[in-house]
Amino acid sequence: MASKDKTLNDAFYETLKDVFYAEKQSVRALRKSAKSAKTPELKRAFETHAEESANQVTRLEQVFEILGKAARGKTCEAMQGLSAEMEEDLEDFGETAAGDAVLIGCAQAVEHYEIARYGTLKTWAIQLGLKDAAKLLDETLQEEKRTDQLLTQIAERQANTGGPARAA
Ligand code: FE
Ligand code: FE
Ligand code: FE
Repeated sequence: MASKDKTLNDAFYETLKDVFYAEKQSVRALRKSAKSAKTPELKRAFETHAEESANQVTRLEQVFEILGKAARGKTCEAMQGLSAEMEEDLEDFGETAAGDAVLIGCAQAVEHYEIARYGTLKTWAIQLGLKDAAKLLDETLQEEKRTDQLLTQIAERQANTGGPARAA
């Protein structure tokens, strides 16, 4: 339904649906990653962010409410692709010494996608005068950035201590 009458409001709503789908999928990916992770530190990081992500889904529902629209998802091809890559990587590396490093890499790809999407949505919310929505989106954006940084730290620590990131 390409229409010349579409506005930034429409783009905001469509992207919100995309992120709603992606966020719910990320909760599942994080729970799976928590189960697959070998080191307790990484396991904990995934578990914590799975809980945060469930709360991020709730925040998105609040944004739909602000718009006066039903919370609906629409297939996010990017997240589908990232999930498929993670499945493949887990098959290839899940049981190897590089397993945790590969898991971190997959998780960071998802965080970077989320950071891009939430950054865009926050900017649009401000431009549309949706202050409360912008605040909710920014809370999530900051959590995604903190998670990305934490994963980088864990990856660097594991590599530096000769942990599971290093080949046996
Ligand atoms: Fe998220
Ligand atoms: Fe998407
Ligand atoms: Fe995230």
